[in-house]
Amino acid sequence: MTSQPFGLLFLLAGCILLGLGPTYHIPQNEAPPGLDEQIDSIMSRMELVDKVGEMTQLAIDVISVGEPYNLAEPHTLDEGKMREVLIDYRVGSILNVGGHAYSLEHWREIITRIQDMATKEKPGGIPVLYGIDAVHGTNYTQGATLFPQQIGLAATWNLELARETARVTAYETRASYIPWTFSPVLDIGRDPRWPRIWEGFGEDVLLSSRMGEAMVQGYQGDNLSDPYRIAACLKHYVGYSAPRTGKDRTPAYIPERQLREYHFPGFQNAIAAGAATVMICSGEVNGIPVHANRWLLNDILREEMGFEGLVVSDWEDVVLLVTRHRVAADLKEAIKLSVNAGMDMAMVPLSLEFPRLLRELVEEGEVPMSRIDEAVGRILRLKLQLGLFENPYPTAIDFDKFATEEHRMIAQQAAEESIILLKNEDQLLPLADEQRVLVTGPNADNMRCLNGGWTGTWQGADSAYDNPGKLTIVKAIREKLGDDQVVYSPGTNVDEAIDIPAAVAAAAEVDVIIACVGELSYTEIVGSIDEMDLPPVQVELVTALAATGKPIVLLLAEGRPRIVREMEAMADAVLMAPYPGDEGAVALANILSGEVNPSGHLPYTYPKWSNSLFTYDYKGTEQVHTDFSQNGLRVQWPFGFGLSYTEFEYSDLSISGSLTDDQPLLGSVTVKNAGDRPGQDVVQLYVRDEVASITPSLRRLRGFEKIYLEPGESQTVSFQLSVEDLAFVGQSNEWITEPGRFTLMIEGLSGPFIYEK
Ligand code: BGC
Repeated sequence: MTSQPFGLLFLLAGCILLGLGPTYHIPQNEAPPGLDEQIDSIMSRMELVDKVGEMTQLAIDVISVGEPYNLAEPHTLDEGKMREVLIDYRVGSILNVGGHAYSLEHWREIITRIQDMATKEKPGGIPVLYGIDAVHGTNYTQGATLFPQQIGLAATWNLELARETARVTAYETRASYIPWTFSPVLDIGRDPRWPRIWEGFGEDVLLSSRMGEAMVQGYQGDNLSDPYRIAACLKHYVGYSAPRTGKDRTPAYIPERQLREYHFPGFQNAIAAGAATVMICSGEVNGIPVHANRWLLNDILREEMGFEGLVVSDWEDVVLLVTRHRVAADLKEAIKLSVNAGMDMAMVPLSLEFPRLLRELVEEGEVPMSRIDEAVGRILRLKLQLGLFENPYPTAIDFDKFATEEHRMIAQQAAEESIILLKNEDQLLPLADEQRVLVTGPNADNMRCLNGGWTGTWQGADSAYDNPGKLTIVKAIREKLGDDQVVYSPGTNVDEAIDIPAAVAAAAEVDVIIACVGELSYTEIVGSIDEMDLPPVQVELVTALAATGKPIVLLLAEGRPRIVREMEAMADAVLMAPYPGDEGAVALANILSGEVNPSGHLPYTYPKWSNSLFTYDYKGTEQVHTDFSQNGLRVQWPFGFGLSYTEFEYSDLSISGSLTDDQPLLGSVTVKNAGDRPGQDVVQLYVRDEVASITPSLRRLRGFEKIYLEPGESQTVSFQLSVEDLAFVGQSNEWITEPGRFTLMIEGLSGPFIYEK
């Protein structure tokens, strides 16, 4: 196994450990006594039909009344189809939802029926493993608590919040009788064009890895048999987020060194934290579809990373080896390729061909029985660990915290901490008492821009499935400031004008304009874009409003950083809401009014021009401008950036001792809240390797901690860095740290140190 560059400890003065959280240990390598015997005993009674059935995952559509994608309403299970799927074919796993979210009661009813048939009527009685995309809360159960999407959690830089939101999601998903979520996304978001960037934790490896680990801990707790926890699924292993075209599921070309340095660590770290399952990336990397790539699925994932859990395909990807990637002549060959490469379960998801053809392949000796037994053993292990054999559905628990105020408050805190103040000229924000505002723009009055995709429906686009009573931005501002102080005139939709002159006229009556621009919800192929700029009509609206001379707060609600250069120049303040969830508007209103001090920080570099897309850890060789200057890349806002209503002063950076193989580098910095409001800041520690055999980045994030300070309060934050914390992947594709000179940077302070071998 390779060494990993994580492990920076931030220590508060007084040696209180920060940011590490409790030590969780899911014993995936140490099966509880008896588990192996139980698996052997179940397997000894299974025939090939049972085994290939276990390896099959079908969408709920296949056992419901109606046609896939066009099910009868209200949703009803089809007993005849269920019998075929569960009893004739012994299918071991079902996923998702027929079109849209269901009520809690309906979920309980259908899972009970499915499990009753599987355990009481199917030969062998193996329970079904039900999986679902509960990615920002239990987003397919009506009324469930909805949190920020992962990009919003990353913007909080608060690991405890990531852990807590995942814990609550686990609780509410189990309350829906579902034990497995397809989350978190650990694709590293280094290209802002990619339509799923908001589903991950942004561009940095350390932030993403630590957030991912926290979410796995929150979902799984320290024991999967805990009836309030669920199994996590790390996705999409690996390379999905770097398509050359920027479009969903198009080919990625990633050198092995970059795979190792940027794309593997998040998965590696979450596996070490005990993640139970992994989903395969739908894309192709260096010309080989990941579903057919034994090197990635076996040599790296199993042998190097030591993953022992279940590997599931993504949606219909075995079929796509034939129809899209064209590496297999027919479905049977595709099944052979993917199962032999290391896929344990196929998210088929709509036909019964997979188990039928897999059976033939085994009988013909094309897929070895040992591969089948390995896959089925992993599936059974997870079902046993989740306690599904004893309790296929948890009737004995009432789950009385489902969607309670306690859970809502966690969602509100996460939303508040996700929102980023990017500009605040002349302290326009917070709004002064009695100021009247115009709320305008395409995102003022919808929930889509707050919740994003995977909300009620796949695209999150059907307001019929919005949770009742949740507030849009204009509604929350009205509640906060009072009806008399708020005028609403939308001006435009996202890409076409409604009535810009009416919005301009309404501006005459107010002191401040709040222009809500950005994107709606989308995911996967639907979210691919041809240009990074926001639609011109949004710029037109802001330009017309700016002509009134009234100060403008630009409120960006969007899933990825769209170009806002012109609008930003016309705005006095900018707030960014990275899909903060159902409580996002309340959070924004609290920040606008000053009740809450913003503390979010960008988890990605915000580009200024479409053809200048960079990550913060660019190399010196990248910063050449057309005017031949070399003074840093010009971005809209840098990675890690975020303002506050108070001022933080950094001083006394001290770096003591020297770094050797046995002796970590120790140091500290003092942070003072020099303003008059309490606030939180994110202490970010960067290191530059001055000379390295692979051209070094100008800086790499090597540690961070979010701290809270009262007005006037100072805190000394201590840190330590080990040799591993500074490692990079060298010419021979191994993690190495080369001796020599380094520079450590925190906020505006910096200092040199040397690593002596
Ligand atoms: C997505 C996955 C998702 C799966 C099941 C796929 O299309 O890529 O992220 O978990 O569908 O809904």
